[in-house]
Amino acid sequence: MSLADIAGLQCVVCGRMYGFDVEGTCTQCGPDGILDVRFEYRRIRESLRATPLATREQSLWRYVDLLPVDSALPRPPFQIGATPLLFAPRLAASLGIQKLLIKNEGANPSGSVKDRSSAMAVIKALEKGMKTVACASTGDSASSMSALAAAVGLRAYVFLPEKCPESDLVQSLLFGATVIRVKGNYTETVRLCDQACSEWGWYSGNHATNPYLIEGEKTLGHEIAEATQNEVPDWVVVPVGDGCTVAAVWKGIQEMHHLGILPRRPRMLGVQARQVAPIAAAFRGAKEIEPQEGDTIADSIRVSRPADWRRALRAVRDSEGDFVTVSDEDIFEGLHVTARLAGASVGLAGGAAVAGLRGAVQERVISSRDSVLVVVTANGLKNVPEARNLVETPIEVEPDLGKIELQLARRRARRA
Ligand SMILES: [Zn+2]
Repeated sequence: MSLADIAGLQCVVCGRMYGFDVEGTCTQCGPDGILDVRFEYRRIRESLRATPLATREQSLWRYVDLLPVDSALPRPPFQIGATPLLFAPRLAASLGIQKLLIKNEGANPSGSVKDRSSAMAVIKALEKGMKTVACASTGDSASSMSALAAAVGLRAYVFLPEKCPESDLVQSLLFGATVIRVKGNYTETVRLCDQACSEWGWYSGNHATNPYLIEGEKTLGHEIAEATQNEVPDWVVVPVGDGCTVAAVWKGIQEMHHLGILPRRPRMLGVQARQVAPIAAAFRGAKEIEPQEGDTIADSIRVSRPADWRRALRAVRDSEGDFVTVSDEDIFEGLHVTARLAGASVGLAGGAAVAGLRGAVQERVISSRDSVLVVVTANGLKNVPEARNLVETPIEVEPDLGKIELQLARRRARRA
């Protein structure tokens, strides 16, 4: 897009408008005042007419008219987005619904939806001539930012809380980032990263303070909308931690509806872990967010003080959607059943989404006649160590068919 297509940046708390190219949050509202990029859709409509979506490349660049990047500048060599949409009839039957689609964001280059937002951080850093990017992360954003920074030759500093997935930690190191493991929780990790960015002049790739990241992530909503425009699902299910993904998906869906591409909008179901569910609690009544210092096995949704709770709440409310919460046991069950009945490796956050769907069907929030699309935010291979406890041990034998036969017979006898 041309940057003239941006109307400005609007504070999500007080509504004050800022000019394009500011960084950080609203000067009046402080850290709560996340800025949201607002576009001139009339001009975007014209450029979509001139070059229809169907004729464009299969990646997040397909929606470049809706991204706050200068399309005159060269694009980094990223192949992000256009992730698979899997039809899952066996899982649908087991959950008791008509139709189920799984949008698999694990197919992105570093294995998560965060490649969409990290792409924006890296592009913005390059636009500004910065040499270093930094971000705080529960895991996915760290490995993603590290990978994309490596691809374009930026230095990356990633901050992870003490309790984080080994896979993301090792991936980040492998991509050449400097990894700072903070002896504290995610909120403390974000604070420290923000301090480091302002002290040392690093480009901040933090969702809470950088208004452009969600713009990359909303292309997930664009893809969902474009792929389902002829048969819009009744519900879209998203696991919720910091709140940015559900807000991003909704923004993408809203834009496609506004541009006349999506005939109607699905309802959003946000899923939080039962012990760490501050946004779900706010949805049920509290006016402001109350931090919840609970724990869950699912790292990427373990966020006790979510930064993007306002936009997440707005997304679910505006869509006439709902929130559900799930236990760790439910999350494991969701991961397991999706693997067995859909052949999809979805990780713990994906497991939470499927578990949330099951809960919503049981509570009759979602009807058995409804069609549903579940967003899986990361690749299940990231959670192999946790999944190890769900499965039985392999049959170990010498290279001898007879020995296998013996062991198979034993296993059958045990099961009988
Ligand atoms: Zn404000």
